[in-house]
Amino acid sequence: MENEIDKKLLAKNIKPTAMRQLVYDILLKNNKALSLYEIEQQFDNVERSTIFRTLKTFQEKLLIHSVDDGTGAVKYALCDEDCKCLPDDLHVHFLCNTCGATYCLREMPIPKIELPKNFSFQNANFVVKGICAKCK
Ligand SMILES: [Zn+2]
Ligand SMILES: [Zn+2]
Repeated sequence: MENEIDKKLLAKNIKPTAMRQLVYDILLKNNKALSLYEIEQQFDNVERSTIFRTLKTFQEKLLIHSVDDGTGAVKYALCDEDCKCLPDDLHVHFLCNTCGATYCLREMPIPKIELPKNFSFQNANFVVKGICAKCK
């Protein structure tokens, strides 16, 4: 398993460290977008700033993307292998109103948006809210 994680990190030019392996593993196992706080909860004793730096590195290297789902906490999830985090790579997210979990709907690209003249695109968050399968 550890070798698999190292491979994924190295594929995005990230040097595997124990911390990076652990954060990657948490994101992989949870299979949903997690906030910094939620990731911190899965460690016994790790500085929040260390986790935050790890997430920033992952994001810069396009290993993860962030979601602003309107709950007030930015959440992070693994990107697809070939993701470049360009507008064409962005997908819809689903927030469960019952458990607060945010899922990547990776098969659902966000709709194309025509911006007015002289407006430029920077970022988009498409969040659908409802009840997830676990809470049904
Ligand atoms: Zn739920
Ligand atoms: Zn996502």
